[in-house]
Amino acid sequence: MSAGGGDAARQADIGVIGGSGFYSFLDDVTEITVDTPYGPPSDTLLLGDIAGRRVAFVPRHGRGHHLPPHRINYRANLWALRSLGVRQVLGPCAVGGLRSEYGPGTLLVPDQLVDRTKGRPQSFFDGEPRADGTQPNVVHVSFADPYCPAGRAAALAAARGQDWDAVDGGTMCVIEGPRFSTRAESRWHAAQGWSVVGMTGHPEAILARELELCYTSLALVTDLDAGAEVGEGVSHAEVMEVFAANVGRLREVLFDVVGRLPKDRDCTCGTALLGQDPGIALP
Ligand SMILES: [Zn+2]
Repeated sequence: MSAGGGDAARQADIGVIGGSGFYSFLDDVTEITVDTPYGPPSDTLLLGDIAGRRVAFVPRHGRGHHLPPHRINYRANLWALRSLGVRQVLGPCAVGGLRSEYGPGTLLVPDQLVDRTKGRPQSFFDGEPRADGTQPNVVHVSFADPYCPAGRAAALAAARGQDWDAVDGGTMCVIEGPRFSTRAESRWHAAQGWSVVGMTGHPEAILARELELCYTSLALVTDLDAGAEVGEGVSHAEVMEVFAANVGRLREVLFDVVGRLPKDRDCTCGTALLGQDPGIALP
């Protein structure tokens, strides 16, 4: 691992927000410190080359996994990535399955999201003065389709290329955590027709959209949620075990997705702020 050098070393075009399993084996990784008007991101960022693209990794929970989902500085993570030049972001995450057919080891590429979080800043453009003295305007961004269609297509193609028949679409319900759902909550989520439940998918997706970044979620089911299983309910040990068993496979898929992401974006993610003045310059 080498220390960050000049500007060229601080440049990337694809961001991955996930665990250490995704970069720990890369040969030549550059570690850099990034600060933002929202404070520091979850940890130092790691930059490496995959499939001819420069990729920046953010360890979402910090490298010691010291940040629970509700304390992650999502704004700093996204801002830091954009400040390096990143325009496409992949967000792998662990989720619980809300249907019995989405058992452990299922990979789902959601196309919808329901926000059930409670106390997380979820906008850069909230009218509040920032630490650097600048003040954003209030902006309302379209979020009808929260995920990048090109990124989703690339993720599904990459999974299938690795013989992983990923579920195309579905709704990710994002809860505040860090506790898991009660059985009643879980049954309610399932009864709404939602597919999986996680703790980090929001506000990551909307903050990416506000910065005109493409964002794609890859949700790995590590357990059946409390309402969908008949045992003792979800345990952290169970989640970690299934994640460990699938992380290598998910890494292969992610790296393949990187190579499949279009170099020239033709989706609408890059014009999310069109016609609105955010009042602050994006990095
Ligand atoms: Zn896009």
